[in-house]
Amino acid sequence: MKLSGWGRYPQVECTLHHPRDAHALRDLVTQAGAEAPVIARGNGRAYGDAALAPTGTVSMCAMDQMIHFDAQTGVLQAQAGVLLADVISAFLPRGWFPMVTPGTRFVTLGGMAAADVHGKNHHIDGSFRSCVVWLDLMRPDGSTVRVTPDKTPDLFDRTLGGMGLTGVILQLCIRLTRVETGWIHQHTIDAPNLDAAMAAFEDNPDATYSVAWIDCLAKGAALGRSLVMLGEHATLAQLPANLRRRPLQLPPKPRKAIRMTFPMCALNRWSVKAFNALYYWKSRRKTNSFVDWESYFYPLDAVLGWNRIYGRKGFVQFQCVLPLDRSADGMRALLSEISAAGQGSFLAVLKRFGAQDSAFSFPTEGYTLALDFPATPACLALLTRLEPIVADHGGRFYLAKDAVLSAQRLRETDGRAKGFADTRLAQGEAGVFSSAQSARLKL
Ligand SMILES: Cc1cc2nc3c(=O)[nH]c(=O)nc-3n(C[C@H](O)[C@H](O)[C@H](O)COP(=O)(O)OP(=O)(O)OC[C@H]3O[C@@H](n4cnc5c(N)ncnc54)[C@H](O)[C@@H]3O)c2cc1C
Repeated sequence: MKLSGWGRYPQVECTLHHPRDAHALRDLVTQAGAEAPVIARGNGRAYGDAALAPTGTVSMCAMDQMIHFDAQTGVLQAQAGVLLADVISAFLPRGWFPMVTPGTRFVTLGGMAAADVHGKNHHIDGSFRSCVVWLDLMRPDGSTVRVTPDKTPDLFDRTLGGMGLTGVILQLCIRLTRVETGWIHQHTIDAPNLDAAMAAFEDNPDATYSVAWIDCLAKGAALGRSLVMLGEHATLAQLPANLRRRPLQLPPKPRKAIRMTFPMCALNRWSVKAFNALYYWKSRRKTNSFVDWESYFYPLDAVLGWNRIYGRKGFVQFQCVLPLDRSADGMRALLSEISAAGQGSFLAVLKRFGAQDSAFSFPTEGYTLALDFPATPACLALLTRLEPIVADHGGRFYLAKDAVLSAQRLRETDGRAKGFADTRLAQGEAGVFSSAQSARLKL
């Protein structure tokens, strides 16, 4: 069947398996080989081809049991196919929230670990690996190893961020964080340009959450015009009286769903410009506000199937990180190229990462920019102009978002790629676990 990631680009003909338990999974792994490798798939929220293998895509969605929860410490043991959305539904009413969360809750725990996802609190709490106590990993020979940061540090380091290329994660033990309410106290800073946006991050290093929405069509003196949103989990005492009665429960919200694929012409520079202007003027009025967890962390989840607005050809994400000392120049160059091309994105996001040193995870100290573009020839051409800017500024790319990078560009921008690929060969992983992405990137 034809499968894709969240961007619906590329679409790849794949054999899809649905093992229900570790025995069935072992059969698939031990039968795989260099001619017919397999790759694990979670909920398909990586944008490109990371969770696609033509000869064997292994959906982990049936392995979705929560196994144990310690209500004193907030430590949860669960199978890899459990959705983050289900973790929140089960434990937020009891006062626990994920320590690290990406911008959608429709991801599996296995997918979060494999991409070593980051949230708006990376500068404080690091990436997903910070909350992983251990994980069980099926290796190329079908054996299962318990992987921990202390006892198997190398395998832990390569698996968190290893994009499923070291084995299949069966179950994990993760720490949740205590919260008193399901509300975030949000402070919005109106930054008229890129310098002001970066200054807002640097001036607020202690804010637990920080993220900037960038109007990437703004030009000239307004280049990088942003709204920087800082957030803290609200305590019970801080909540206004009307929210204090049921602090861990959200008022019911209507769900919207996009069921049809939009024609490509619906999305053009004018609709993007109008959206950006509206969003900017609407949001800048709310300087200090209480925002429910769903709207703060997962605004896109409010519209199910939003990936269809980009039309039949789908869309691509571009996410890079630039080292701190090159970020200002590099971001200015990237944004200038994007605004000049007029191919603005609805969802341009800037974040500040804290320090991280890891085998193959994406984050490193600096600024990360994420944008999406329809997969048109003009936008794909724009990406080929953005890539060298990232390379020239010492940056690298996020594989969970990538669909187009070349093996050469990856090697050029990420000095760890060759070592990661060599170790995979030496450990017998390369002959068993491979995705369309890892084949393209020669990992
Ligand atoms: C709207 C949106 C917002 C996002 N925001 C962020 C963000 O803020 N920060 C961020 O870091 N990411 C973000 N992402 C990306 C997303 O968090 C990651 O791509 C995540 O890996 C998706 O999880 P999944 O379960 O859908 O995995 P899939 O997309 O199915 O797979 C992703 C990778 O994980 C591997 N994998 C999945 N399950 C297993 C397993 N059990 N064992 C071994 N490997 C496995 C796959 O092989 C693949 O390489 C966002 C995605 C969307 C759609």
